[in-house]
Amino acid sequence: MLSGPDGTSSELIERLRTYLADRNWKRKICAVCGIEFIAKGQSDNCGSYKCSGGYVFRSFSRRKRFTLLKEMMTETFSYFISEGYRKLPSASILNPYSRRGDSNNLEDTLFIVAGVQALNPIFIDEAPVTEGALFIAQPVIRTQYADMVGKIDGFSTSFVNICTEDLNASPKRHVEHIDRWLSYLSHIGLFVNQTSIVPEFLTPDWGKGTFNNVAIYLNYGGLQLGDMSFFYGIPQRTRKEMTVSDIGFGLERVAWAVNKSTSYFDAIGPFIESFLEKYRLMDSARTLALISGSGVTPSKEGTGYRFRKFAQMLLDADKGDFGFLHLIPYYHSFWGNLLQLSRNSDECRNLIYREYLRRLNAQLSAALRIEWQNSWSDTEALLESILTGSYGISVDQLRGVIASVLREEKERSAGNNL
Ligand SMILES: [Zn+2]
Repeated sequence: MLSGPDGTSSELIERLRTYLADRNWKRKICAVCGIEFIAKGQSDNCGSYKCSGGYVFRSFSRRKRFTLLKEMMTETFSYFISEGYRKLPSASILNPYSRRGDSNNLEDTLFIVAGVQALNPIFIDEAPVTEGALFIAQPVIRTQYADMVGKIDGFSTSFVNICTEDLNASPKRHVEHIDRWLSYLSHIGLFVNQTSIVPEFLTPDWGKGTFNNVAIYLNYGGLQLGDMSFFYGIPQRTRKEMTVSDIGFGLERVAWAVNKSTSYFDAIGPFIESFLEKYRLMDSARTLALISGSGVTPSKEGTGYRFRKFAQMLLDADKGDFGFLHLIPYYHSFWGNLLQLSRNSDECRNLIYREYLRRLNAQLSAALRIEWQNSWSDTEALLESILTGSYGISVDQLRGVIASVLREEKERSAGNNL
């Protein structure tokens, strides 16, 4: 398999090797990319998107009944609780450890990007260690995926990271957690012999110096479902270094793998928008519902700046249709099942609507080469004041400009969907 520099990794690797060999998993070399992987089935490739030639899992045999995302969530919760995991409540997506500039020059992410960050008080502030196996369903935001949304299916800027955490777990315990996850996949109806696992040795740094990670990625017919990490040697100032078994999957991806439907967005919903391939509209509205529900207000920096970027993505996808207005309550209700949100659905919708109008009006006034007026509270007010004021723009000129501004984007997004 792979080799690490010390006793812990060799023990883990030995235990994994035995566990997998006992269950007939075999080491192979990917016929496409040449990396080492382990699989039970006949596959000659590592199961990545590239090496599989796309999302081939969609042609695997499936059950007819569709599983909704909320059903997948409930089924996942009850599986891990019945297996003896203790449920930790989901944390706010606003990361309290973001750029707080402590003596270790800690610079953590703006938003929560993984469930394991719930344990930051333990790793960073050296709070007392929580014993036992934990289960967390953590909403996360990963802004680096924004450009991929709608171009390659399977990517979204927000999703639910379902994970198990076990602090100071031994390599033996970690392998038991892996076993539990593989059973979970069978339990929800995925055939484990259609998966491939790809090991990798990494040296992350969470702000106190580097440590080690034996990571295992689990691929299912082109779709990476999750990663199973064993972190060890995590530096601590006041006590001995720590380990953590951290296994995280994407709930939406798991639901897609189970349903094997055309799009990743089908289970995210609403169905109509997904069937019409309005993926960028859905994704930006869903992430904005989460950000605004978490109490963020548009501003020039930090999370407020991210709010503005997502509002721009929403406007680029929606351009004057206002089709997002009914999506905000839909997504707000989903996030509200996981999180204590600080704004209700109407407050979120109004806030997003205002930011959307502000951007739409700025875009229109730029196209018309007229100066922005604060009194333009909505787009209709802007258009009325242009036509009744002394701008010298006729109604047909205005019609032409607006149509070109709005149509341009429509045609571009239609092109993307072909
Ligand atoms: Zn490969």
